[in-house]
Amino acid sequence: PYEVQTVEKLLTDAMCENSGSGTGFPIFVQRTIARQIELHQEIGRGRFGEVWLGHWKGEKVAVKIFSSRDEKSWFREVEVFQTIMLLHPNLLRFIASDNKDTGMSMQLWLITEYHEHGSLFDYLIAHTVTQGGLCKMVRSIACGLAFLHSEIRGTQSKPAIAHRDLKSKNILVKNDGSCCIADLGLAVRSFDNVLDIPDNQKCGTVRYLAPEILDGTLNKTHIDGFRTADIYAFGLIIWEIARRTNDGLVEAYELPYNELQQRDPTLSEMRKHVCTENRRPIIPNRWANCATLSDMSRLMKECWARNPSARLTAMNVRNAVDRLVAAENLVML
Ligand code: ADP
Ligand code: MG
Ligand code: MG
Repeated sequence: PYEVQTVEKLLTDAMCENSGSGTGFPIFVQRTIARQIELHQEIGRGRFGEVWLGHWKGEKVAVKIFSSRDEKSWFREVEVFQTIMLLHPNLLRFIASDNKDTGMSMQLWLITEYHEHGSLFDYLIAHTVTQGGLCKMVRSIACGLAFLHSEIRGTQSKPAIAHRDLKSKNILVKNDGSCCIADLGLAVRSFDNVLDIPDNQKCGTVRYLAPEILDGTLNKTHIDGFRTADIYAFGLIIWEIARRTNDGLVEAYELPYNELQQRDPTLSEMRKHVCTENRRPIIPNRWANCATLSDMSRLMKECWARNPSARLTAMNVRNAVDRLVAAENLVML
């Protein structure tokens, strides 16, 4: 139904081989890099891959290894990462991909920059943040998402991209306390109103699915619907970080909707909770006594609104954080 051919052509036509964007290394360069990497230890595991810490010429890199049975997922994630002009401080930096035929099996590698703090989920379990730290994280995710979401036309054009699997496990914490968005395996791209839907029709993580996805009313023909669904998930992520913000008091880390049950909630449970009963994560009382946290609670509510068109954009979130930081005289350390 979608003219994938067309968008691919638009994308490749616009691709400049040595753009210096860092995402367009020729394939033989990528292969050479990949074959110079030594794997050290496993650092993460997700739905598709094992993620390893590797060393490349003394530099640390992350290597996501897909099994050959997940070749489509590998191919898609590489394809999205190779989108022209996809270089931004708040998006995980792609370095190279390689497929290694070991004779016995095919190993599929995706090599990216390594972030030693790991995912935001892991980070929040182990650490609390300051009010400035909260703002820095939220602002950085908003910047990365605003960039991802925007379509840029002209000589340096870029398709609009919606992530579709935003969650704290798919965001990484950088050394300076800002964040970058990772795991682009389910992303959709749109250029000139042509939508490029990935082959595998999997949807994101049930816990983070927007009400319109849960009840099947999402308009899948336009990127807008996917963008606003990302914003819903972003609202839940802001809530996760806010709970770990220490202003003398702090909440323990919790996944959103943890009250439902301990393990993975089912689609119908989530639909009942989020759509029928219109429930959202609970705002702790203490937040009302802290200007930053009460501003943030307003922000998250405007992100997870039932009506997608009532939600903020990523750029709105960034601007709101800037105003909050100025009003509260916070330092985003
Ligand atoms: P999947 O698609 O299988 O979910 P992800 O790309 O989300 O794989 O990676 C799984 C986990 O590995 C992440 O949640 C994170 O903990 C860790 N991880 C992934 N990439 C990096 C990286 N570049 N640096 C550090 N940790 C990473
Ligand atoms: Mg993941
Ligand atoms: Mg993934």
